[in-house]
Amino acid sequence: MIPVNEPLLGKNTLKYAADCIDTGWISSAGSYIRRFEDEFARYLGVKFAITTTSGTTALHLALAALGLGPGDEVIVPDHTMIAVPYAVLYTGAKPVLLDVDRETFGLDPDAVRDFLKKECRFDGRRKILTDKRTGRRVRAILPVHLFGHPCRMDEILALAEAFDLRVVEDAAEAHGALYYPGGKKARAKMAGAMSDIGCFSFYANKILTTGEGGMVVTSDPALAERARRLKDLAHDPVRRFRHTELAYNYRMTNVQAAIGLAQLEEIEKFIVLKQKMAAAYVKGLAGIPGLVLPEEKAWARNVYWMYAVRVEPSFGMSRDELMKRLKERGIDTRTFFVPVLRQPLFADDPEYAGLRCPVSEMLAETGFYLPSGLALTSAQIREVCTAVKSIQKSGR
Ligand SMILES: *Cc1c(COP(=O)(O)O)cnc(C)c1O
Repeated sequence: MIPVNEPLLGKNTLKYAADCIDTGWISSAGSYIRRFEDEFARYLGVKFAITTTSGTTALHLALAALGLGPGDEVIVPDHTMIAVPYAVLYTGAKPVLLDVDRETFGLDPDAVRDFLKKECRFDGRRKILTDKRTGRRVRAILPVHLFGHPCRMDEILALAEAFDLRVVEDAAEAHGALYYPGGKKARAKMAGAMSDIGCFSFYANKILTTGEGGMVVTSDPALAERARRLKDLAHDPVRRFRHTELAYNYRMTNVQAAIGLAQLEEIEKFIVLKQKMAAAYVKGLAGIPGLVLPEEKAWARNVYWMYAVRVEPSFGMSRDELMKRLKERGIDTRTFFVPVLRQPLFADDPEYAGLRCPVSEMLAETGFYLPSGLALTSAQIREVCTAVKSIQKSGR
């Protein structure tokens, strides 16, 4: 079986992890935590990085640090991993689910603009944006850089500026992805480092892994301080074990940070592998009718977390049929996400019933990803390409 994903671990992984065990520093105290955070911040070009237990808790921590709560709303893409709307709900706020861009799969700034201009009322003097339908206050936009390609951030950041909204990036699938503001490569910014606060996951299938883990990044000292406090039970800085507010235990272990540090040393090598994988897939799959390959916009570096393709009717076979035939040949694939509005949790909620995001639905029906792991070999990629071609030829 060619697996859809298999991680590659950095060469110092065992050495650093063994160091934690040899020295007994296996909980969240220990030097690897700080080293991993400092190196990650430096890699991203931000001032602060704060480790967490997962991408999900990183998202929750970021939203909690911004002070979001009941009566607030956060704009979230409809096509994303469920942790994104969950994190909004954990704070007591509600997600506003908007459609995604059909080429980059990220939150569509046109949908955001429409929502802000048509569905909201903006009191420019008091800087209060109200969702006319729900009466709640819209406080933030949460773009997700899906499958390794950055969102159209210039437009999202301009809208946030115009309506006084905070921006939280979910870069869980986009470690090392670059965005070129104004299309200028010389001004390249890392995904996750373009807004108030960015979030990462280090789950085993992500580009950089610690097994389970996550990170919040920011250059705002107040937000960093808030996030550090909330992730560690909000001990009173003067009197430990005295607590004045509700907080969480989202502490990563030193062993995970040691694994993370070893990964980070090789991340640019991992990204080169991802880009070689994409080039090999283009070579093997370009020109097949009805098979839409992922793009890399001129204003971005796509890190191809997953090689995400779509099957259109001219392919001659449905996406599900193609996936089934690939499976028969020992090739594992995965569909795109189930749209958030189609999740029973939302579909059964009268507030969300009847809302639609057509692009998100189209992606859910036609999209899937091919084997994309860092351990994938060129021979395996050729085998996948040959299989896709011959399945299409042998047809319906
Ligand atoms: C993986 C992922 C998360 C959640 O990360 P976990 O570490 O699994 O909690 C959040 N958002 C996106 C877009 C993801 O892909």
